[in-house]
Amino acid sequence: MTRILIVEDEQHIADGLRFNLEAEGYEAVVARDGEQALELLLKERTAFEVVVLDVMLPGKDGFTVAAELRAAGQFVPILMLTARGRPEDVLRGFESGADDYLPKPFELAILMARLRGLQRRRRWNERDVEVPESTPETYSFEGRTLDFGAMEVRAHGKSYRLTQMECDLLKYLVRNAGQAVSRGTILEDVWGLHESTDTRAIDNFIVRLRRYLEDRPASPKILLTVRGVGYKFVSQEALKSS
Ligand code: CA
Repeated sequence: MTRILIVEDEQHIADGLRFNLEAEGYEAVVARDGEQALELLLKERTAFEVVVLDVMLPGKDGFTVAAELRAAGQFVPILMLTARGRPEDVLRGFESGADDYLPKPFELAILMARLRGLQRRRRWNERDVEVPESTPETYSFEGRTLDFGAMEVRAHGKSYRLTQMECDLLKYLVRNAGQAVSRGTILEDVWGLHESTDTRAIDNFIVRLRRYLEDRPASPKILLTVRGVGYKFVSQEALKSS
C-alpha cells in the first residue's frame, strides 16, 4: 500500500486529507509539525512514497523541513502546500527542495492528480534504471556525468544530488538535446501541467541546473536560454565542434 505523510497543523485539513487519501486506498500518516515529520523521516526512517508538506507550520516551517530533509540525504518526493497569491513561496519551496507545489485552498482532485504524478515520475526513473534504452542512464560531457539512475550530477570530483523535479527536467532536456523547447512544452511534457500554470517556476529550475552543469553559471554554454522560446541543452556533438 502506498504510504503518504501529511505534515499539517490545521486539524480539519489534515483529517480531511487523511480521510480522502484512505478512501482512495492510500495509507496516510499525519505529522502535526515539522519536528515530528523530521523524526519520522530521519530518525525512525519510516518509508513514505510522498510527503505532503504545508509551508505554514508551528516551529520549523515547510521550507526548513524540506531543506533539512534534503541536507540529510532524504529525497522522498515532496508536494508543498503554499499560500495562494504568493509566488515567492513557490520559488522558495523549489529552492528548499520541494518537487511540486499546490496553492491553498486546493481541490482534492487536483491534489490526488499531483500525488499520482509524483509517484509516476518516481516509477519512470526506477524503470529507466532497469531498462536504460529510452534515455541513457548516464550522460557525460566535459568532465561531468549526469547519472539519472543515481539522481546526481558528478563534476570535477564533486557530486550534486538532484531532486525528482530537477532529474525529470534534466532528463527531458538531454532527450531533446540540440532543440529549443518552450516553457509551456516543458510544463506539459515533464510535469503534466497546463498552460495556465505560471511558467516562471521553470526559470528557477534552470538556474539550479546551471549550477551543476556550467563552469560559469552566469554565462551558460550548456543549458542556453533561447530568447522568445525557452531553453536548449546543447548536444554533445555541438559541444565538440564548437
Ligand atoms: Ca498549516
